[in-house]
Amino acid sequence: MAGIMEGKKGIIFGVANDHSMAWGIAKILHDQGAEVALNYMGDIMEKRVRPLGESINAPVIMPANVQDDASLDAFFAEVEKKFGKIDFLLHAVAFSNKEELSGLYVETTTRENFKNTMDISVYSFCDLCRRASKIMNEGGSCLTLTYLGGEYYIPNYNVMGVAKAALDASVRYLASDLGNKGIRVNAISAGPIKTLAASGIDDFTLMQKWNAYNAFLGRNMSLEDVSKTGLYMLSDLSSGVTGEVLHCDCGYHAQGMVNLEHIRESGELLTQFADRLENKD
Ligand code: NAD
Repeated sequence: MAGIMEGKKGIIFGVANDHSMAWGIAKILHDQGAEVALNYMGDIMEKRVRPLGESINAPVIMPANVQDDASLDAFFAEVEKKFGKIDFLLHAVAFSNKEELSGLYVETTTRENFKNTMDISVYSFCDLCRRASKIMNEGGSCLTLTYLGGEYYIPNYNVMGVAKAALDASVRYLASDLGNKGIRVNAISAGPIKTLAASGIDDFTLMQKWNAYNAFLGRNMSLEDVSKTGLYMLSDLSSGVTGEVLHCDCGYHAQGMVNLEHIRESGELLTQFADRLENKD
């Protein structure tokens, strides 16, 4: 049986290793018949990304840094050469200094890291959408990955939360701008999952446990969950959806208080959070 992405081609930015959400989505798109172009950041990343890309016969596996226009020019030129037109773009890119993803936002945030975080994690989506839309077929789909920390206060998420709020707003502006070309722009707000990027966030393991206890499904989102949602968003299955931030977090975003079934575990976790806070200076 033909896959639902048969004949579709597109760009995936943000595979670092086989835990990356971009990799889960790239793999399911390939399994459904799509051809994908992958970027990587520098030689260290190439060692992990190239074998992954080769395992799904990716026609383009090239270095590209969202802060380096020359590398983006070369990447998009190669994509156009190999694919001609494309059907989808995934932006799964974010970065901030680890030191600023801990403690108080008001105290830790520097001008330099604020600008850098916004450039890599927000502006890059606008830039990639502009470049991709020039070679994208009508009916194409652009997708980014965001987090609840852009909508609500989440401890330690700090400048990255502010960046995600700007990214969520970008989705709506880009969806308007590209709508007249028939191109859709959306975000998945994913639940917490252990990846390289997540390892920079202080107390991430405690946060993940809290999410699992308090999500309606009583567990955390898996790589498979977000991959299937990515397939929906990047395929024609979501043809009427644009300007949307879709939560894939087992229902955590809609929880108003705590899950009564896990109230004891949540209480113990709060004590651990309190102990961690007390032991910080
Ligand atoms: P990851 O570390 O696997 O992916 C982050 C990617 O960003 C890496 O591939 C890295 O190479 C890339 N990157 C960083 N700076 C770059 C630059 N200058 N140019 C090009 N690429 C650059 O981690 P992930 O968790 O899969 O992150 C993907 C996206 O999902 C991020 O936007 C992240 O904020 C978001 N997200 C993550 C979680 C989570 O809990 N892991 C939850 C919600 C949203």
